[in-house]
Amino acid sequence: MKDGFLTLTTRIGDFLSVTQDGYAIFSADDILIGCNQAYADLMFIDFDQIIGKSFNQQCRIAFKNQQGPKIETSDIEQWLEIAKTKRRAQEFRIFEVDLIDGRWFLMSEHVLPSGELLLQAKNITKQKVVEQTLSENTHQLTNLALTDELTQVANRRSFIASVKSEINRYKRNKQIFTFCLLDIDYFKKINDQHGHQVGDNVLRQLCSLIKKTLREYDLFGRIGGEEFGLLLPDTQVTKADDMINRLRHKIMTNTFNNHHNPVKITLSIGMVESWLNCTFELLYNQSDIALYKAKDNGRNQVVILNSLGATNRSS
Ligand code: GH3
Ligand code: MG
Ligand code: MG
Repeated sequence: MKDGFLTLTTRIGDFLSVTQDGYAIFSADDILIGCNQAYADLMFIDFDQIIGKSFNQQCRIAFKNQQGPKIETSDIEQWLEIAKTKRRAQEFRIFEVDLIDGRWFLMSEHVLPSGELLLQAKNITKQKVVEQTLSENTHQLTNLALTDELTQVANRRSFIASVKSEINRYKRNKQIFTFCLLDIDYFKKINDQHGHQVGDNVLRQLCSLIKKTLREYDLFGRIGGEEFGLLLPDTQVTKADDMINRLRHKIMTNTFNNHHNPVKITLSIGMVESWLNCTFELLYNQSDIALYKAKDNGRNQVVILNSLGATNRSS
């Protein structure tokens, strides 16, 4: 039994000298009394220099040389004060640390009854890389699911979801918004005259122009084909009318596609203001009625449907 234990401690000693995981023991007053090479390496301090240095001294060296653990602060003394409050607050704690060279360690600290602190630093760089790749992939997949591939604006599904949450916000805080449907006039002719690829170019450039014109918090999305939805939060229809007519003008005077094969387009727009019991479906139906009027009246114009169902043209 005793022999077995001796063998174990000797073998653990061998193991400690080859493992990538760091091991260290600090005295009750936080002076390093023993460690392996891996621990000295992750602190970027020579093995024969590190013993006898306090935890604070080691951190100051890492911070000054910008090597070892990443210490994100402009005031190292203040950082050490905060670290001190956490360091021996529990008998056992576990946390992650990233190094300036890109490695990651899972640190566990065990405070022994004598006050000594046993630290283990497990190299988790491989797991972290997998975790980060997974999270980047998830982020990319989410973006793909929410974005219209051709125009890179919100697709129908994500636009409708955003409008629905804006409707809920409106019902809580009663801040009026305006909802618009925008449709390119005679777009079929553009495809017929210039080809589908030019049509695609126009759609892309139109969206980029509209996005540049809008405020950061306006919601814009492609509902389908050459039809787009726009929600202007905290905006009454009279103010929206000015904004949207300026936008309509900008598009009317812009040259799309390229200078060798220029394309001109106009937009018809149907617009409604939010009301107490509105839903996405009702907003869509009402603005579609207004849009239909705008088409019927000759296109290239904004028509507002008021709460009584009457329309008025604006330009
Ligand atoms: P209106 O003024 O009445 O809106 O006439 P319009 O020609 O724009 O309307 P219509 O609904 O008859 O035709 C819409 C056209 O939009 C037909 C379709 O080929 C074109 N379209 C829809 N999606 C795309 C797309 O992704 N790319 C291209 N190039 N064309 C598209
Ligand atoms: Mg159209
Ligand atoms: Mg259409």
